[in-house]
Amino acid sequence: MKAARLHAVETPLSIDEVPIPQPGPGEVLLQVKACGVCTSDRYVIKGRRPLKIYPHTLGHEVTGVVASVGDDVAEFRPGDRVFINPMVSCGRCEWCLDGQDNLCAQGRLIGLDDGMVGGYAEYMSLPAKNVHRLPDNVTFEQGVIITSILATGFHAVRKIGVDAGDTVAVFGVGAIGCCVVQSAKAHGATRVIAVDLSDSKLERARPYGADEGINASLVDPVAEIMARTSGRGVDVAFDVAGEKATIEGAIGSLRRGGRAALVGCTFTPVHLDFEDYFRGVACKEVTMSTIFAYQAREFPLMVELLRAGKIDLSLYSAITFPLAEVNAALEASERETEAVRIILTP
Ligand SMILES: [Zn+2]
Ligand SMILES: [Zn+2]
Repeated sequence: MKAARLHAVETPLSIDEVPIPQPGPGEVLLQVKACGVCTSDRYVIKGRRPLKIYPHTLGHEVTGVVASVGDDVAEFRPGDRVFINPMVSCGRCEWCLDGQDNLCAQGRLIGLDDGMVGGYAEYMSLPAKNVHRLPDNVTFEQGVIITSILATGFHAVRKIGVDAGDTVAVFGVGAIGCCVVQSAKAHGATRVIAVDLSDSKLERARPYGADEGINASLVDPVAEIMARTSGRGVDVAFDVAGEKATIEGAIGSLRRGGRAALVGCTFTPVHLDFEDYFRGVACKEVTMSTIFAYQAREFPLMVELLRAGKIDLSLYSAITFPLAEVNAALEASERETEAVRIILTP
């Protein structure tokens, strides 16, 4: 079979002929149908996520068809359409036993960590517990969105808790922000206010379920949210940009007793300023949570929402490349906007 492999940092991937892997006990062999090209893949190539073992096969956002199963695998059969959860956790530590496998210190990511062979290939083998059935109404290309962006937005909503009737603000409506909007709506949010820096981004968030938009380049979003909620503030706010202004905005726009999820990431220091910390934050007794990745137990829940049409992945546009054009796909992923997914179709 063909696999696109990285042989050294900062070199183009090469298309290598390698043996089709054999699924071991408890494993499933997939024929890869679609594999997302991700920013973290480029980090591996550039050496920002260093590896020790080469050659390495990237690819952690994978959908495909079950080709064969190893011993002890009863839940899948050849021909099943599936997607993967790339996080392989230990299953034994206190976090795994508590369902918080995203916090497992031994957790390793398929396609990103040493020796974890990914989906930039015609076939891949992985533990059956990391494989989920793709609903019939989700295409292979759309299924890539589940692990690439939906899972993070969905986990944020589950972790912080969105209840029926809640008013929600989402600061930053790129691809993950739009998944937060969709997931919040699927959990019963009545009113979702999108906040971003351009009218076009705010418009783009509407089909995902954003009811209103606030252009933060024109108005102070916190004052605007307070005005639009009669001075009350929102029940739940999400920062999906990881910037000082968006984190402060999310916390500042909460009602008394509100909840803020900090989804955005940054590698630069963040210093927060609250002019009136006492009245603006402390007296409100707000709950805040950082958000990291997603949990295995959330995938069956996402599948049910997808099957029921409560979350619609057809809204996300994608550009596909054959495996042979993997280097062009990687280049394109650097250029394209966040809302567009670059997908390899081996
Ligand atoms: Zn990714
Ligand atoms: Zn663990």
